[in-house]
Amino acid sequence: MIYFDYSATTPLDPKVLKSMTPYFSKDFFNPASIHSAGQKALKAVEDARYKIARLIGSRGSEIVFTSGATEANNLALRGLLEGALSKGDKRKHIISTSIEHSSILEPLNDLKKKGYKVDLLPVDKNGLVSLSVLEKAITEDTILISIGYVNSEVGSIQPLNRFGRLIKKLNSHRYETWLKLSTRKRGDKPRPMYFHSDATQAFNVIDCDINKLHLDLMSLSGHKLYGPKGVGLLFVRRGTILKPQQLGGHQERNLRSGTLNVPAIVGLAQAMIIAQKNRVTFNNKISKLRDTFIKSLLKLEPSLMITVKSFALSAMHANIIFPKVQGDALLSALDEKGIAVSAGSACASGDLEASHVLVALGYEKSLAQSALRFTFGRITNIKEVNQAVKIVSLAYRACLRRG
Ligand code: PMP
Repeated sequence: MIYFDYSATTPLDPKVLKSMTPYFSKDFFNPASIHSAGQKALKAVEDARYKIARLIGSRGSEIVFTSGATEANNLALRGLLEGALSKGDKRKHIISTSIEHSSILEPLNDLKKKGYKVDLLPVDKNGLVSLSVLEKAITEDTILISIGYVNSEVGSIQPLNRFGRLIKKLNSHRYETWLKLSTRKRGDKPRPMYFHSDATQAFNVIDCDINKLHLDLMSLSGHKLYGPKGVGLLFVRRGTILKPQQLGGHQERNLRSGTLNVPAIVGLAQAMIIAQKNRVTFNNKISKLRDTFIKSLLKLEPSLMITVKSFALSAMHANIIFPKVQGDALLSALDEKGIAVSAGSACASGDLEASHVLVALGYEKSLAQSALRFTFGRITNIKEVNQAVKIVSLAYRACLRRG
């Protein structure tokens, strides 16, 4: 099989597997146990936490381990708003984008039903949000801004550091204006706007330092970065109040109850260390393979359309529109020939809805339904790429003939 779906999930790195193995059997203990065996498991978790903290520029105590990015996103959005409300913060305006993953859009939809006003910012043809559009959307009532770092479908990379700087500047400005008021006129200290990013698709290809990006909250997932499935994390900046979404044994400073998945947490840290160390090499290798794939395929099939061509693009991604065929039909034809790709995001495939991301980029529904996502990974090689180009071209022609 030729696997071109590394955005859906990645294989476990052998070194990651090795780091995890003892914690399944020999050192299987519960880190919440008081005895010394349990404390050994706790030490493994805490070591992993501090290694991860160093990689993203946070404190260890600012990391909450979760079951993945879906849970981290839910905890970030719902947790923040419920936490704020419980402290008397009545702000009701949330800003996000029209190209977020469903684990952002669905909780936002739910919050809408609870009376929050949600603005989903538009993106340009390269899948990018503009700084001025964001600035115009911000109001006195804005409490949370959540913008994904790298889009899972098309790979566009948002200029998060610029957004973060703007949000920080506005927060400081409000605070300084308040300080200048006489104590009689002051009222309550202004509360900051919080900035969250779903960086699930980002860590392989770009630095995710929370300070450089000025983030208060950031979600990551193990299985997207050659780590295990079922583990992820939410970075929560100190002082950011979240209401836990899961009650029980008070793990993770009470923010996420449940026995910690020790092997997965150890594996997550190891996977992040490897991804960070190899990022430059990975990007160089993968962008060359991706570009060769696109160039060779376009030579055979000049009518294909590459959805995003900007410089701000993940090296892993090639999202391609195959005019006049249904993406899911071509996906099945490729599957039969041993090539695994994705139509829209993995979570959205299976239904025939046009990808909300491509529609947001300005593509007509019929073109959006004709898109396939090819994502390349660490073990992709030139032989696979060359082979795939020929197979994709033949499969496309066969689908065109079938009509
Ligand atoms: N956000 C993005 C951008 C994703 O691509 C995914 C995975 N498809 C998720 C969130 C959900 O991650 P997980 O599988 O860890 O719940």
